[in-house]
Amino acid sequence: MNTNTDIQPILDRVLSGGRMTVEECATLLESNDIARIGVAADEVRRRKHPSGVVTYIIDRNINYTNVCNVVCTFCAFYRRPGKPDTYVRTLEEIYRKIDETIALGGTGVLMQGGLHPDFGIEWYEDLLRTLHAKYPDFQLHCFSPPEIHNIHLISGLSYEEILTRLKAAGLYSLPGGGGEILDDEVRRRVSTKCTTGEWLDVMRAVHKVGLRSTATMMFGIGDTVVHRVRHLQRVRDLQDETGGFTAFIPWTFQRENTALGRRITEEPTGVDYLKMLAVSRLFLDNIEHIQSSWLTQGLRLGQAVLRFGADDMGSIMIEENVVSAAGAHNEADEKMLRYLIRSAGFTPQQRDILYRHVNREESSKQDASDSAKLRELSVAFAD
Ligand code: SF4
Repeated sequence: MNTNTDIQPILDRVLSGGRMTVEECATLLESNDIARIGVAADEVRRRKHPSGVVTYIIDRNINYTNVCNVVCTFCAFYRRPGKPDTYVRTLEEIYRKIDETIALGGTGVLMQGGLHPDFGIEWYEDLLRTLHAKYPDFQLHCFSPPEIHNIHLISGLSYEEILTRLKAAGLYSLPGGGGEILDDEVRRRVSTKCTTGEWLDVMRAVHKVGLRSTATMMFGIGDTVVHRVRHLQRVRDLQDETGGFTAFIPWTFQRENTALGRRITEEPTGVDYLKMLAVSRLFLDNIEHIQSSWLTQGLRLGQAVLRFGADDMGSIMIEENVVSAAGAHNEADEKMLRYLIRSAGFTPQQRDILYRHVNREESSKQDASDSAKLRELSVAFAD
Protein backbone atom coordinates (compact mmCIF):
# COMPACT_ATOMS: atom_id res chain seq x y z
CA MET A 1 0.00 0.00 0.00
CA ASN A 2 1.27 3.40 -0.99
CA THR A 3 1.21 5.31 2.28
CA ASN A 4 3.85 7.93 1.52
CA THR A 5 2.47 9.68 -1.52
CA ASP A 6 1.32 13.17 -0.75
CA ILE A 7 -2.32 13.15 -1.69
CA GLN A 8 -3.00 16.80 -0.90
CA PRO A 9 -2.35 18.09 -4.46
CA ILE A 10 -4.95 15.62 -5.76
CA LEU A 11 -7.48 16.71 -3.16
CA ASP A 12 -6.75 20.40 -3.81
CA ARG A 13 -7.22 19.94 -7.54
CA VAL A 14 -10.56 18.17 -7.04
CA LEU A 15 -11.71 20.81 -4.56
CA SER A 16 -10.94 23.52 -7.05
CA GLY A 17 -13.19 21.87 -9.62
CA GLY A 18 -10.80 19.51 -11.42
CA ARG A 19 -11.95 16.06 -12.40
CA MET A 20 -10.09 13.20 -10.73
CA THR A 21 -8.15 10.91 -13.07
CA VAL A 22 -8.15 7.14 -12.65
CA GLU A 23 -4.48 7.28 -11.62
CA GLU A 24 -5.32 9.81 -8.89
CA CYS A 25 -8.25 7.66 -7.81
CA ALA A 26 -5.94 4.66 -7.42
CA THR A 27 -3.47 6.80 -5.44
CA LEU A 28 -6.22 7.84 -3.01
CA LEU A 29 -7.47 4.27 -2.61
CA GLU A 30 -3.91 3.15 -1.87
CA SER A 31 -3.32 5.89 0.68
CA ASN A 32 -3.82 5.41 4.41
CA ASP A 33 -4.54 9.08 4.95
CA ILE A 34 -8.27 8.63 5.35
CA ALA A 35 -8.64 11.71 7.53
CA ARG A 36 -7.59 14.08 4.75
CA ILE A 37 -9.60 12.16 2.13
CA GLY A 38 -12.61 12.32 4.44
CA VAL A 39 -12.28 16.07 5.00
CA ALA A 40 -12.22 16.67 1.24
CA ALA A 41 -15.20 14.36 0.64
CA ASP A 42 -17.12 16.10 3.44
CA GLU A 43 -16.40 19.44 1.78
CA VAL A 44 -17.73 18.18 -1.58
CA ARG A 45 -20.82 16.83 0.21
CA ARG A 46 -21.32 20.21 1.88
CA ARG A 47 -21.06 22.08 -1.42
CA LYS A 48 -23.52 19.74 -3.14
CA HIS A 49 -25.94 19.76 -0.20
CA PRO A 50 -25.34 23.05 1.62
CA SER A 51 -28.58 22.92 3.59
CA GLY A 52 -27.17 20.31 5.98
CA VAL A 53 -30.02 17.91 5.27
CA VAL A 54 -29.39 14.17 5.32
CA THR A 55 -32.17 12.10 3.82
CA TYR A 56 -33.58 8.62 4.40
CA ILE A 57 -36.40 6.65 2.81
CA ILE A 58 -39.15 4.54 4.32
CA ASP A 59 -39.56 1.56 2.07
CA ARG A 60 -39.28 -2.15 2.17
CA ASN A 61 -37.38 -4.84 0.35
CA ILE A 62 -39.60 -7.56 -1.02
CA ASN A 63 -37.83 -10.55 -2.49
CA TYR A 64 -40.54 -12.08 -4.67
CA THR A 65 -38.61 -15.31 -5.15
CA ASN A 66 -35.39 -16.94 -3.98
CA VAL A 67 -35.31 -19.29 -6.98
CA CYS A 68 -32.23 -18.51 -9.00
CA ASN A 69 -30.88 -20.01 -12.14
CA VAL A 70 -27.31 -18.79 -11.85
CA VAL A 71 -24.58 -19.19 -9.26
CA CYS A 72 -22.94 -16.34 -7.41
CA THR A 73 -20.44 -17.63 -4.87
CA PHE A 74 -20.95 -14.52 -2.70
CA CYS A 75 -24.70 -15.12 -2.33
CA ALA A 76 -26.35 -16.84 0.63
CA PHE A 77 -29.88 -16.05 -0.52
CA TYR A 78 -30.52 -18.04 -3.68
CA ARG A 79 -31.93 -21.56 -3.99
CA ARG A 80 -31.60 -23.68 -7.09
CA PRO A 81 -34.89 -24.40 -8.92
CA GLY A 82 -36.65 -27.47 -7.51
CA LYS A 83 -35.01 -27.32 -4.05
CA PRO A 84 -37.41 -27.78 -1.10
CA ASP A 85 -36.93 -24.34 0.50
CA THR A 86 -37.69 -22.27 -2.58
CA TYR A 87 -40.53 -19.76 -2.59
CA VAL A 88 -42.42 -17.36 -4.83
CA ARG A 89 -44.37 -14.74 -2.86
CA THR A 90 -48.12 -14.71 -3.47
CA LEU A 91 -49.94 -11.49 -4.30
CA GLU A 92 -51.61 -11.62 -0.88
CA GLU A 93 -48.21 -11.78 0.82
CA ILE A 94 -46.96 -8.84 -1.25
CA TYR A 95 -50.13 -6.82 -0.50
CA ARG A 96 -49.69 -7.41 3.22
CA LYS A 97 -46.08 -6.23 3.08
CA ILE A 98 -47.02 -3.11 1.12
CA ASP A 99 -49.89 -2.32 3.50
CA GLU A 100 -47.49 -2.55 6.45
CA THR A 101 -45.05 -0.22 4.66
CA ILE A 102 -47.75 2.35 3.93
CA ALA A 103 -48.88 2.22 7.57
CA LEU A 104 -45.34 3.22 8.59
CA GLY A 105 -45.34 6.21 6.21
CA GLY A 106 -43.54 4.36 3.40
CA THR A 107 -43.53 5.65 -0.14
CA GLY A 108 -42.37 2.63 -2.10
CA VAL A 109 -40.94 -0.81 -2.32
CA LEU A 110 -37.63 -2.19 -3.53
CA MET A 111 -38.62 -5.48 -5.10
CA GLN A 112 -36.09 -7.89 -6.52
CA GLY A 113 -35.46 -11.58 -6.55
CA GLY A 114 -33.50 -14.47 -7.96
CA LEU A 115 -33.32 -15.19 -11.69
CA HIS A 116 -36.30 -17.51 -12.09
CA PRO A 117 -35.95 -19.77 -15.14
CA ASP A 118 -39.71 -19.71 -15.94
CA PHE A 119 -40.56 -16.02 -15.59
CA GLY A 120 -40.83 -14.19 -18.91
CA ILE A 121 -41.83 -10.58 -19.47
CA GLU A 122 -45.55 -11.33 -18.95
CA TRP A 123 -45.00 -12.47 -15.36
CA TYR A 124 -43.30 -9.18 -14.45
CA GLU A 125 -45.84 -7.10 -16.37
CA ASP A 126 -48.75 -8.82 -14.60
CA LEU A 127 -47.15 -8.26 -11.20
CA LEU A 128 -46.45 -4.57 -11.84
CA ARG A 129 -49.85 -3.91 -13.40
CA THR A 130 -51.66 -5.52 -10.49
CA LEU A 131 -49.65 -3.64 -7.86
CA HIS A 132 -49.85 -0.33 -9.71
CA ALA A 133 -53.64 -0.64 -10.05
CA LYS A 134 -54.03 -1.32 -6.33
CA TYR A 135 -51.42 1.23 -5.13
CA PRO A 136 -51.24 3.92 -7.85
CA ASP A 137 -49.12 6.37 -5.78
CA PHE A 138 -46.74 3.78 -4.38
CA GLN A 139 -43.31 3.79 -6.06
CA LEU A 140 -42.32 0.43 -7.53
CA HIS A 141 -38.50 0.43 -7.52
CA CYS A 142 -37.90 -3.03 -8.93
CA PHE A 143 -35.70 -5.51 -10.78
CA SER A 144 -31.98 -5.00 -10.96
CA PRO A 145 -30.04 -5.43 -14.25
CA PRO A 146 -29.45 -9.20 -13.85
CA GLU A 147 -33.26 -9.69 -13.68
CA ILE A 148 -33.77 -7.58 -16.79
CA HIS A 149 -31.04 -9.56 -18.53
CA ASN A 150 -32.78 -12.79 -17.45
CA ILE A 151 -36.06 -11.58 -19.01
CA HIS A 152 -34.08 -10.82 -22.17
CA LEU A 153 -32.79 -14.41 -22.25
CA ILE A 154 -36.23 -15.92 -21.63
CA SER A 155 -38.40 -13.63 -23.76
CA GLY A 156 -35.95 -12.75 -26.50
CA LEU A 157 -36.68 -9.01 -26.27
CA SER A 158 -34.16 -6.18 -26.23
CA TYR A 159 -33.48 -4.38 -22.95
CA GLU A 160 -35.25 -1.30 -24.29
CA GLU A 161 -38.37 -3.25 -25.28
CA ILE A 162 -38.47 -4.91 -21.87
CA LEU A 163 -38.07 -1.65 -19.98
CA THR A 164 -40.60 0.18 -22.13
CA ARG A 165 -43.16 -2.53 -21.37
CA LEU A 166 -42.33 -2.67 -17.67
CA LYS A 167 -42.54 1.12 -17.43
CA ALA A 168 -45.98 1.03 -19.07
CA ALA A 169 -47.01 -1.61 -16.53
CA GLY A 170 -46.04 0.61 -13.58
CA LEU A 171 -42.28 0.29 -13.01
CA TYR A 172 -41.13 3.52 -11.34
CA SER A 173 -37.35 3.13 -11.20
CA LEU A 174 -34.61 0.51 -11.04
CA PRO A 175 -32.33 -0.49 -8.17
CA GLY A 176 -28.66 -0.72 -9.08
CA GLY A 177 -28.09 -4.16 -7.60
CA GLY A 178 -26.05 -6.88 -9.23
CA GLY A 179 -23.25 -4.45 -10.02
CA GLU A 180 -20.87 -5.96 -7.47
CA ILE A 181 -17.57 -5.14 -9.19
CA LEU A 182 -18.06 -3.93 -12.74
CA ASP A 183 -15.07 -5.69 -14.18
CA ASP A 184 -15.25 -9.10 -15.82
CA GLU A 185 -11.89 -10.19 -14.44
CA VAL A 186 -13.59 -10.25 -11.03
CA ARG A 187 -17.17 -11.08 -12.09
CA ARG A 188 -16.22 -14.19 -14.03
CA ARG A 189 -14.51 -15.64 -10.96
CA VAL A 190 -17.50 -15.23 -8.64
CA SER A 191 -20.68 -15.29 -10.72
CA THR A 192 -22.36 -16.63 -13.84
CA LYS A 193 -24.81 -13.74 -14.08
CA CYS A 194 -24.71 -10.80 -16.50
CA THR A 195 -21.36 -9.35 -17.55
CA THR A 196 -20.10 -5.83 -16.93
CA GLY A 197 -21.12 -4.76 -20.44
CA GLU A 198 -24.60 -6.24 -20.02
CA TRP A 199 -25.12 -4.54 -16.65
CA LEU A 200 -24.12 -1.20 -18.17
CA ASP A 201 -26.27 -1.79 -21.29
CA VAL A 202 -29.33 -2.48 -19.13
CA MET A 203 -28.72 0.77 -17.24
CA ARG A 204 -28.22 2.64 -20.51
CA ALA A 205 -31.61 1.33 -21.67
CA VAL A 206 -33.23 2.18 -18.30
CA HIS A 207 -32.14 5.79 -18.65
CA LYS A 208 -33.05 5.88 -22.35
CA VAL A 209 -36.67 4.95 -21.65
CA GLY A 210 -36.82 7.78 -19.11
CA LEU A 211 -36.43 5.90 -15.85
CA ARG A 212 -33.85 6.68 -13.16
CA SER A 213 -31.79 4.16 -11.22
CA THR A 214 -29.17 3.87 -8.54
CA ALA A 215 -25.69 2.38 -8.99
CA THR A 216 -24.06 0.12 -6.44
CA MET A 217 -20.72 -1.49 -5.70
CA MET A 218 -19.98 -4.51 -3.54
CA PHE A 219 -16.27 -4.79 -2.96
CA GLY A 220 -14.12 -7.33 -1.16
CA ILE A 221 -14.88 -10.25 -3.49
CA GLY A 222 -11.32 -10.72 -4.67
CA ASP A 223 -11.07 -7.30 -6.30
CA THR A 224 -8.04 -5.04 -6.15
CA VAL A 225 -7.73 -1.25 -6.24
CA VAL A 226 -7.44 -1.48 -10.04
CA HIS A 227 -10.85 -3.17 -10.30
CA ARG A 228 -12.48 -0.70 -7.91
CA VAL A 229 -11.17 2.21 -9.94
CA ARG A 230 -12.45 0.63 -13.17
CA HIS A 231 -15.87 0.21 -11.53
CA LEU A 232 -16.02 3.87 -10.55
CA GLN A 233 -14.87 4.96 -13.97
CA ARG A 234 -17.52 2.87 -15.75
CA VAL A 235 -20.25 4.34 -13.56
CA ARG A 236 -18.97 7.89 -14.09
CA ASP A 237 -18.68 7.40 -17.86
CA LEU A 238 -22.25 6.10 -18.15
CA GLN A 239 -23.49 8.94 -16.00
CA ASP A 240 -21.75 11.41 -18.34
CA GLU A 241 -23.64 9.78 -21.18
CA THR A 242 -27.13 9.47 -19.64
CA GLY A 243 -27.34 11.40 -16.37
CA GLY A 244 -29.75 8.72 -15.12
CA PHE A 245 -28.15 7.63 -11.84
CA THR A 246 -29.64 9.24 -8.75
CA ALA A 247 -27.17 7.83 -6.23
CA PHE A 248 -24.16 5.62 -5.69
CA ILE A 249 -24.13 3.05 -2.89
CA PRO A 250 -20.93 1.17 -2.06
CA TRP A 251 -20.78 -1.62 0.53
CA THR A 252 -18.59 -4.52 1.49
CA PHE A 253 -19.10 -8.22 0.83
CA GLN A 254 -20.99 -9.99 3.64
CA ARG A 255 -19.38 -13.38 3.92
CA GLU A 256 -21.45 -15.56 6.29
CA ASN A 257 -23.04 -18.67 4.75
CA THR A 258 -21.45 -18.05 1.36
CA ALA A 259 -19.13 -20.26 -0.65
CA LEU A 260 -16.83 -17.31 -1.36
CA GLY A 261 -16.76 -16.36 2.32
CA ARG A 262 -15.25 -19.74 3.17
CA ARG A 263 -12.46 -19.21 0.63
CA ILE A 264 -11.58 -15.57 0.99
CA THR A 265 -8.81 -14.72 3.44
CA GLU A 266 -8.95 -10.95 3.49
CA GLU A 267 -12.02 -8.80 3.86
CA PRO A 268 -12.45 -5.03 3.78
CA THR A 269 -12.13 -3.23 7.11
CA GLY A 270 -13.99 -0.20 8.41
CA VAL A 271 -11.16 1.98 7.13
CA ASP A 272 -11.49 0.46 3.65
CA TYR A 273 -15.21 1.26 3.67
CA LEU A 274 -14.72 4.85 4.88
CA LYS A 275 -12.07 5.40 2.22
CA MET A 276 -14.11 3.80 -0.57
CA LEU A 277 -17.12 5.91 0.25
CA ALA A 278 -15.12 9.14 0.51
CA VAL A 279 -13.23 8.47 -2.73
CA SER A 280 -16.56 7.69 -4.45
CA ARG A 281 -17.83 11.12 -3.36
CA LEU A 282 -14.72 12.77 -4.79
CA PHE A 283 -14.53 10.76 -8.03
CA LEU A 284 -18.22 10.68 -8.98
CA ASP A 285 -18.58 14.41 -9.51
CA ASN A 286 -21.64 13.82 -11.70
CA ILE A 287 -23.72 11.84 -9.19
CA GLU A 288 -25.78 13.83 -6.75
CA HIS A 289 -26.13 11.45 -3.82
CA ILE A 290 -23.88 9.00 -2.01
CA GLN A 291 -25.67 6.61 0.29
CA SER A 292 -24.51 5.09 3.56
CA SER A 293 -24.98 1.35 3.88
CA TRP A 294 -25.63 1.10 7.63
CA LEU A 295 -27.36 -2.22 7.02
CA THR A 296 -24.08 -3.89 6.05
CA GLN A 297 -21.63 -1.70 7.99
CA GLY A 298 -23.53 -1.29 11.25
CA LEU A 299 -25.16 1.82 12.66
CA ARG A 300 -21.94 3.36 13.99
CA LEU A 301 -19.99 3.23 10.75
CA GLY A 302 -23.15 3.95 8.79
CA GLN A 303 -23.45 7.18 10.76
CA ALA A 304 -19.73 8.05 10.57
CA VAL A 305 -19.77 8.12 6.75
CA LEU A 306 -22.11 11.10 6.92
CA ARG A 307 -18.83 12.96 7.61
CA PHE A 308 -17.02 11.12 4.81
CA GLY A 309 -19.19 12.26 1.93
CA ALA A 310 -22.53 10.47 2.33
CA ASP A 311 -25.69 12.60 2.34
CA ASP A 312 -28.26 9.82 2.61
CA MET A 313 -28.91 7.08 5.17
CA GLY A 314 -30.85 4.82 2.83
CA SER A 315 -33.88 2.88 3.97
CA ILE A 316 -35.25 2.01 7.36
CA MET A 317 -35.34 -1.56 5.94
CA ILE A 318 -38.57 -2.97 7.27
CA GLU A 319 -37.48 -6.23 5.74
CA GLU A 320 -34.26 -7.40 4.15
CA ASN A 321 -33.39 -10.96 3.23
CA VAL A 322 -30.38 -10.90 0.94
CA VAL A 323 -27.51 -9.43 2.96
CA SER A 324 -29.05 -10.66 6.22
CA ALA A 325 -28.74 -14.20 4.84
CA ALA A 326 -25.02 -13.42 4.53
CA GLY A 327 -24.64 -12.19 8.09
CA ALA A 328 -25.72 -8.52 8.20
CA HIS A 329 -28.20 -8.28 11.07
CA ASN A 330 -28.41 -4.54 11.74
CA GLU A 331 -31.78 -2.96 12.40
CA ALA A 332 -33.12 0.57 12.68
CA ASP A 333 -36.50 2.26 12.66
CA GLU A 334 -37.28 5.79 11.52
CA LYS A 335 -36.70 7.23 14.97
CA MET A 336 -33.26 5.65 15.15
CA LEU A 337 -32.18 6.91 11.73
CA ARG A 338 -33.37 10.42 12.56
CA TYR A 339 -31.48 10.26 15.84
CA LEU A 340 -28.27 9.13 14.12
CA ILE A 341 -28.56 11.88 11.51
CA ARG A 342 -29.24 14.60 14.10
CA SER A 343 -26.46 13.44 16.38
CA ALA A 344 -24.04 13.70 13.43
CA GLY A 345 -25.02 17.36 13.14
CA PHE A 346 -27.50 17.18 10.24
CA THR A 347 -31.20 17.71 9.72
CA PRO A 348 -33.05 14.46 9.03
CA GLN A 349 -35.48 14.47 6.14
CA GLN A 350 -37.64 11.70 4.70
CA ARG A 351 -37.43 11.41 0.90
CA ASP A 352 -38.96 9.34 -1.87
CA ILE A 353 -37.08 7.18 -4.36
CA LEU A 354 -36.20 10.22 -6.51
CA TYR A 355 -34.88 12.12 -3.49
CA ARG A 356 -37.85 14.49 -3.31
CA HIS A 357 -38.63 15.48 0.25
CA VAL A 358 -41.64 13.87 1.89
CA ASN A 359 -43.13 15.74 4.81
CA ARG A 360 -45.15 13.74 7.31
CA GLU A 361 -46.17 15.22 10.61
CA GLU A 362 -45.31 11.95 12.33
CA SER A 363 -41.62 12.23 11.32
CA SER A 364 -40.89 15.43 13.14
CA LYS A 365 -43.01 14.34 16.11
CA GLN A 366 -40.44 11.59 16.54
CA ASP A 367 -37.85 14.26 17.22
CA ALA A 368 -39.96 16.15 19.73
CA SER A 369 -38.06 16.28 22.96
CA ASP A 370 -38.85 12.76 23.93
CA SER A 371 -35.71 12.59 25.97
CA ALA A 372 -36.52 9.23 27.48
CA LYS A 373 -36.74 7.69 24.04
CA LEU A 374 -33.54 9.38 22.96
CA ARG A 375 -31.79 8.01 26.02
CA GLU A 376 -33.10 4.58 25.17
CA LEU A 377 -31.81 4.96 21.63
CA SER A 378 -28.45 6.18 22.90
CA VAL A 379 -28.17 3.08 25.01
CA ALA A 380 -29.14 0.86 22.09
CA PHE A 381 -26.59 2.64 19.97
CA ALA A 382 -23.86 2.16 22.57
CA ASP A 383 -24.52 -1.59 22.95
S1 SF4 B 1 -26.83 -12.64 -6.17
FE1 SF4 B 1 -28.78 -12.66 -7.30
S2 SF4 B 1 -28.23 -13.59 -9.24
FE2 SF4 B 1 -26.59 -14.15 -7.84
S3 SF4 B 1 -27.20 -16.13 -6.97
FE3 SF4 B 1 -27.95 -14.52 -5.57
S4 SF4 B 1 -30.05 -14.19 -6.20
FE4 SF4 B 1 -29.01 -15.23 -7.91
